[in-house]
Amino acid sequence: MVRPVIAANWKMHKTIPEAVEFAKRLKEEFSEAGDVEIVLAPPFTSLRPVADVLKDSSIHLAAQNMHWEEKGAYTGEISAAMLIDAGCEFVIVGHSERRTLFGETDTILNRKISAALKSGLKPIFCIGETLEERESGATFHIIKKQIKEGLNNIPSDDIRHVAFAYEPVWAIGTGKTATPVQAQEVHSFIRKTIADDLAYAHASETVIMYGGSVNPENAGSLMNQPDINGALVGGAALNFGSFGSIIKMLTR
Ligand code: PEP
Repeated sequence: MVRPVIAANWKMHKTIPEAVEFAKRLKEEFSEAGDVEIVLAPPFTSLRPVADVLKDSSIHLAAQNMHWEEKGAYTGEISAAMLIDAGCEFVIVGHSERRTLFGETDTILNRKISAALKSGLKPIFCIGETLEERESGATFHIIKKQIKEGLNNIPSDDIRHVAFAYEPVWAIGTGKTATPVQAQEVHSFIRKTIADDLAYAHASETVIMYGGSVNPENAGSLMNQPDINGALVGGAALNFGSFGSIIKMLTR
């Protein structure tokens, strides 16, 4: 049985006081949510303050992005060691907004995943097809390419530290969700690709989260699917009530 992960990707939202307030409420209400791993991914400025709140709780901290180099002349960037220093355990890599708005390619993402793992950060690796790719029947081809290139040369032993997030680009922030059947079909393909193409013997234990307009109404039916092990939540994670309802759905 894979322990589900429910992660909040706050993107470029929340000031430090807002992030701290949310984290305090989450810690009060869900510190004992043992059936599920909760992860918060605030903007960089709130990482340390939120880490201080979450200390001595089972709630984990993630960054939304990182650079692959250890240090150097990379104005505006942040390294894995700096994120660990700020209290992070996870880092989101390859979110579709990073791929489309900031030109991150599979090769760049491979460098980031490799650097994260070498430093001891656990990547939450986002993959997913665009609407055009889905409509032209290329979904599986794209997913396989993203997995193989993103994890190229990553030792099989390290794959246990990688969580995957299937996020169909057409479902992110659009209010359109993949149906449970559509999502399950891709999740099961992802698990098979991890087992066959990456030759990872423990793919049945890999966390594969779903992301794309998850909300309290649709979370239950998505999470009931056998290969969906949690959710990466954007919009609905900005509000404590709706994020809390999604967590409760997994801890029932
Ligand atoms: C996301 O940003 O990862 C995401 C899934 O966003 P939303 O839930 O708003 O679609």
